[in-house]
Amino acid sequence: MNEVLRLARPDILALETYVTGRDDADVAGVSVYLDANESPYPPFAHGGESGDDGPWPSNRYPEPQPAWLLERFASHYETSPARLLVSRGAEEAISLLVRAFCEARVDHVVVNPPTFGMYEVAARIHGAGVRAVPLLTGDGFRLDVDGILDAASSGVKLVFVCTPNNPTGTPVPGEDVMRLAEALRGKALVVADETYLEFHGAASLGGLVGRRPNLVVLRTLSKAYGLAGERCGVTIAHPQVIAVLRKVLAPYPLTQSSLRVLSRALSPEGITHAHENILRVRAERTRMEAALARTPAVLRVHPSVTNFVLFETRDPTLLVKHLHAAGVKVRDRSDQPGLDRCVRVTIGTPAENNAMLAAVHRFSPTGEHISSAARPEPAAGAISVRDPH
Ligand SMILES: *Cc1c(COP(=O)(O)O)cnc(C)c1O
Repeated sequence: MNEVLRLARPDILALETYVTGRDDADVAGVSVYLDANESPYPPFAHGGESGDDGPWPSNRYPEPQPAWLLERFASHYETSPARLLVSRGAEEAISLLVRAFCEARVDHVVVNPPTFGMYEVAARIHGAGVRAVPLLTGDGFRLDVDGILDAASSGVKLVFVCTPNNPTGTPVPGEDVMRLAEALRGKALVVADETYLEFHGAASLGGLVGRRPNLVVLRTLSKAYGLAGERCGVTIAHPQVIAVLRKVLAPYPLTQSSLRVLSRALSPEGITHAHENILRVRAERTRMEAALARTPAVLRVHPSVTNFVLFETRDPTLLVKHLHAAGVKVRDRSDQPGLDRCVRVTIGTPAENNAMLAAVHRFSPTGEHISSAARPEPAAGAISVRDPH
């Protein structure tokens, strides 16, 4: 059996892929669809008219993996449609990989904390074990390749590598990922999560999937393409890995509405729009890194290649509370291994970033910099707890 098929759960391999009413919908000559128990009437959202802005109106089930969309993604990510799976965000792809390849209570995944939490969550929900091989924190968050190879010597089906990594903002060299994939051939899939790659601008590992069948690359439109609300992630993998994932995928992962939005986002104009915003975010990231480094409350700024910046401060819990009171939400990451004093801030618009910087400037752990005038007024009608009545 093929090198990657052997890694999948045998009971999943034995499953027939479910055929939906839409999979064989494009039968020549058919124009009357009475096979899927759909309503013949377009919904109220269409004003009662049949949809004219997509191949199917919303009263019809969407195509599970539309050929036009796979073609667009294939040219966008420089691969072939057979190597692609489109899912509800990269998060769904993570869960599909765990469910299709890990035997519950038998197999493990490897994660490299501090990193994205969903790898571990998806594994635990499914009942798979988790082996943590921490990043080498004293060394710019480098991947511990030898440590991972030790941990994955048996009982491991998936190794998740987030590159660039969330929340550290650091990239993992492609050679490290490929060394893992080479050493683990026939043993485990190496999953490179490239969610933030556009902000870095480095080459994707997606082009190497053809050479290394146990390499899987995850992309998403959620971050750089501004489509977090539409839920669209793309898996680039060997066609046999894609076929296994399709057996686990829910029948209709993409809504008709998200398909309409995707069609526009992947047009030449949509791609130009995204590129302009990526450049804006990168310029603001450089400005934020420099401004934060000059701020008294900030002890250290970790260099980032993403759309967020991780920085250290003496009391992260207090700083995050202060920022929230000033109306700015950031993420306290100090509970993550190796990130004792760290806070993560996403790059916003210049005005949003200025609001954040101004609030950090006003912050002092002892409070002496906060003038009474800067303290938020109690909301109108609020009863002061000092009021004796
Ligand atoms: C945000 C994030 C995701 C989630 O992506 P979706 O496509 O929105 O599901 C995946 N991986 C990492 C590392 C992320 O930070």
